[in-house]
Amino acid sequence: VNCEVIAVGTELLLGQIVDTNSSWIGERLATAGIDSHYQTKVGDNLDRIVSVLRIALERSDAVIMCGGLGPTQDDITREAIAQVMGVPLVRHDDIVEVIREMFGRRGREMADSNLRQADVPEGATVIPQRIGTAPGLICPVGPNGERVVYAVPGVPYEMEEMMDRAVVPDLQERSGDRSVILSRTIRTWGLAESTLAETVQPRLDELDRRGNPTIAFLASGMEGIKVRITVKAADEANAQQLLDEEEDELRAMLGDIVFGTDSVSMEQAVGRLLADQGLTLAVAESLTGGMVGSRLTNAVGSSEWFRGAIVAYDSQVKFDLLDVPEGPVVSEDAARAMAAGVRKVLGADVGLSTTGVAGPTEQDGMPVGTVFLGMAIGDHVEALETRLPGDRDRVRQFATISVLNLLRLRLLEATRN
Ligand code: ATP
Ligand code: MG
Repeated sequence: VNCEVIAVGTELLLGQIVDTNSSWIGERLATAGIDSHYQTKVGDNLDRIVSVLRIALERSDAVIMCGGLGPTQDDITREAIAQVMGVPLVRHDDIVEVIREMFGRRGREMADSNLRQADVPEGATVIPQRIGTAPGLICPVGPNGERVVYAVPGVPYEMEEMMDRAVVPDLQERSGDRSVILSRTIRTWGLAESTLAETVQPRLDELDRRGNPTIAFLASGMEGIKVRITVKAADEANAQQLLDEEEDELRAMLGDIVFGTDSVSMEQAVGRLLADQGLTLAVAESLTGGMVGSRLTNAVGSSEWFRGAIVAYDSQVKFDLLDVPEGPVVSEDAARAMAAGVRKVLGADVGLSTTGVAGPTEQDGMPVGTVFLGMAIGDHVEALETRLPGDRDRVRQFATISVLNLLRLRLLEATRN
């Protein structure tokens, strides 16, 4: 089976948005072993969509169309497919119900135009919507349905979810390939992408020779660097086992920079370690202004181990509330005193602190990005000076994740002693 991609949307042609969907789909098809020779972009114009779809169906077994499934007048992918199939659009009452319910849950009025999303070309199968309001479509074309058109939404995460759930499996079934493709992402913090790639290079070389699993790096800014493992196997159990083995292999090479897999966040990783060790945490924040506390409370179950945070922004608050000795507050001493102070004031086992220069101007003769992170565990108090890159926003975000990572590393050490 070979499959091509048509991205629908005038804004793609005008350069207002970049067609990342086609690239993502291209990569997915490649890992699934499905040939794909063409990608087309077309504006929101019925005649032109019909025309590129006809051309695509002449040369490919399958076509994936993304975008144009929304409720507005310029969303006409459904109409175009129906025209090419030579069938009418039929409104599905069950889809109408699902859409009504989604609007009801969000407490919003539903415009009548939303009902257009319940229109399905006669003979097509619906891919039920899980995230957005638009269902996807699997549309057989030709006298015996030997060709197929898939329609998926334009919104990237809706599209990705439907591709993995319905489109790729359907394509594999058509190609007689029953194998299963699964991915797992290893989350890391603390190494540059190039250094990380060098560290695992020997493994990458070996996998290149074997062809399965495959590894991809995704630099994700504040989310760290993700290492994605993709495996192909005869069934789910085998795929999971391959993933487990490869994860072990990579973890052994990467060591402590790995803080979790898939959707595990830094705060969840920290929370898990605290919970395991039966420790509670308190935070004193200056330049992060509450961001550390905010991230920590993202973690489900944080009430078990998070006591609270004090945003001690003004120097006087640091002196009065946290017992920081008078003097420069962007300093190692201040960071230490803040961590020890908040630990005591909030009655926690562990105190963390951030103080530094977020910018845009320097402070006390210290350049923008100078940040001190403090940590107090029992009587042991330490501070770390770092220089963080970027503008005010990035410095604050980096400081937030850096202090969480500092704690994570210490807690990991503690488990080894
Ligand atoms: P909606 O129900 O939101 O209208 P839709 O299926 O009609 O979804 P579009 O209206 O085409 O999809 O696109 C919705 C949004 O999804 C766009 O504004 C854009 O942000 C994003 N998007 C659409 N197509 C692409 C693409 N090819 N690559 C990346 N992003 C895209
Ligand atoms: Mg739309």
